[in-house]
Amino acid sequence: MNQKPISPELINATIEFHGHSCPGLAIGIRAAELAMDRFGRSIDEEIVAVVETDMCAVDAIQFLLGCTFGKGNLIHMDYGKSAFTFHSRQDGISIRIVARPNAIGDPGDELIALRTKKLKEKLAPDEQKRLKEATAERTRRIMEADIDKLFEVKPSQSPAPRKARILESLICQDCGEATMESRTRRLFGETLCIPCFEAAEKPRNP
Ligand SMILES: [Zn+2]
Ligand SMILES: [Zn+2]
Repeated sequence: MNQKPISPELINATIEFHGHSCPGLAIGIRAAELAMDRFGRSIDEEIVAVVETDMCAVDAIQFLLGCTFGKGNLIHMDYGKSAFTFHSRQDGISIRIVARPNAIGDPGDELIALRTKKLKEKLAPDEQKRLKEATAERTRRIMEADIDKLFEVKPSQSPAPRKARILESLICQDCGEATMESRTRRLFGETLCIPCFEAAEKPRNP
């Protein structure tokens, strides 16, 4: 048996936060387990998570490690990988936790067929039940797997991101909304927010 630093109550609370139990969330819970083991829960901004996916797993990282967009210690890189880098600002340690290619396990032909069917039509009650069971089984396997079989721990590919600075706001000269200075654009001598800049740039319909 491997050590589980995350209590069943905390796991249930994570599932409640996410809205359902699924293999993706399970990967996130296990990645958080590995990170918590090294760093402990981030109380303020001392742990920064850089996540390379925006899928279910990230909800576990947010909930369990306290890394959130609002605090500025959750950064999304749209690479489509189950990879999570954690930087500790206190001691300068960084690790990148990468799910092994087979971490979630092979869904198998039956599950693939059921999922494909579900996209096109309503499943029969027994098919629904089967899909639910098979998904729950994959989730259970991830929750019980040896952590080393699920993930590879690599060095971080980049240093910890800078702390967010408080910037001035400028008023967009088109919509009149206050916009963070670093997100404004200049066009024909006017200061614009990004949506107004993009709308102004688009060629008009003939
Ligand atoms: Zn999910
Ligand atoms: Zn605007």
